Amino acid sequence: MSVRVGILGGTGAVGQRFIQLLDGHPEFELAAITASDDSAGTPYRDAAKWRVDSPIPDDVGDITVRATEPDAVPDDVDLLFSSLPSGVAAEVEPDFAEAGYVISSNSSNARMADDVPLVIPEVNPEHLDVLDVQRDERGWDGALVKNPNCSTIAMVPTLATLDRFGLDRVHVATLQAVSGAGYSGVTSMEIIDNVVPHIGGEESKMETESKKLLGSFDGAEISLHDVDVSASCNRVPTLDGHLENVWAETEEDIEPEDAEDAFRDAPTLDLPSAPDSLIEVFDDPSRPQPRLDRTLGGGMQVAAGGVQSTPSGVQYNCLAHNTIRGAAGASLLNGELLADRGWL
Ligand code: NAP
Repeated sequence: MSVRVGILGGTGAVGQRFIQLLDGHPEFELAAITASDDSAGTPYRDAAKWRVDSPIPDDVGDITVRATEPDAVPDDVDLLFSSLPSGVAAEVEPDFAEAGYVISSNSSNARMADDVPLVIPEVNPEHLDVLDVQRDERGWDGALVKNPNCSTIAMVPTLATLDRFGLDRVHVATLQAVSGAGYSGVTSMEIIDNVVPHIGGEESKMETESKKLLGSFDGAEISLHDVDVSASCNRVPTLDGHLENVWAETEEDIEPEDAEDAFRDAPTLDLPSAPDSLIEVFDDPSRPQPRLDRTLGGGMQVAAGGVQSTPSGVQYNCLAHNTIRGAAGASLLNGELLADRGWL
């Protein structure tokens, strides 16, 4: 099977990861790249300030960047990955869905909309079926699917495995890499020799998106999980990889070994970009670390370690690569799930 795919906002930090991950993909063939009007009409190699750690694939460098509008994208493209700024995505993604394109989007707009599936394939693949409701209500031939924020996605796979003990309350403090803000997001003067203890909007995203991802779907509606999540987000001077300190409180008693066993039992999927095991568990309490562990499973694995008891649950650390599992890889895996479940 070969599915023709495109990237909306393909010249940016996340767009470049899409191109890297799509190179040699067994099912998807890259057929279109869009960006802002400043880049449209320009060969990709001139339009993108290429910064990922492999060369621009030759055939991609010659692609002419298109405008980000449905008429500019060929009709035979079945699936679009979106890495647009959320304000732009909020305006154009519905137009693309109405024009019949299926969009797997990384942008934050519409993540909490009732009829938009917010999906981590190993955690809540069944939520995809809310697309029937979306198509009925909006009259779209296409569809819009979202992946969560990069900090949420590092933590929720671990929480999903602990829910068998009755998740009650979660506190999390993050140490987030600078690439999470995009190339122009944090200046060197702000971040070298420094930690910034606030990332605008990030805390509420972690608090709300986690409840939707862990929620249940009854065939018509997604109900939010009633766990309380409280987040404190910090920008630190690492390049890639968000490390997070999590305190999880459970209704049932839980020992560190129970949590580690639950992490190791996390489900895996037979999709091209899915890692062989979702969560790598470290015995060494000084791991995971961003520089050492962010590329586990090609950047698609979550790492966890340092599990210890607290009076009402467990405390542990987890890590994920923010532009791979936290962004482009997340949308790509959702695209593979959409193809596998017959939504294209
Ligand atoms: P970025 O580096 O600034 O790239 C933005 C992309 O959107 C570029 O291709 C840009 O094209 C295009 N664009 C900007 N304005 C546009 C417009 N008016 N019309 C059409 N295209 C336009 O941003 P990023 O870091 O890749 O982030 C992209 C999205 O992913 C954001 O919504 C972000 O919040 C989300 N996200 C990022 C991360 C991360 O770790 N970086 C993680 C999760 C989610 P030009 O090159 O022509 O300007």
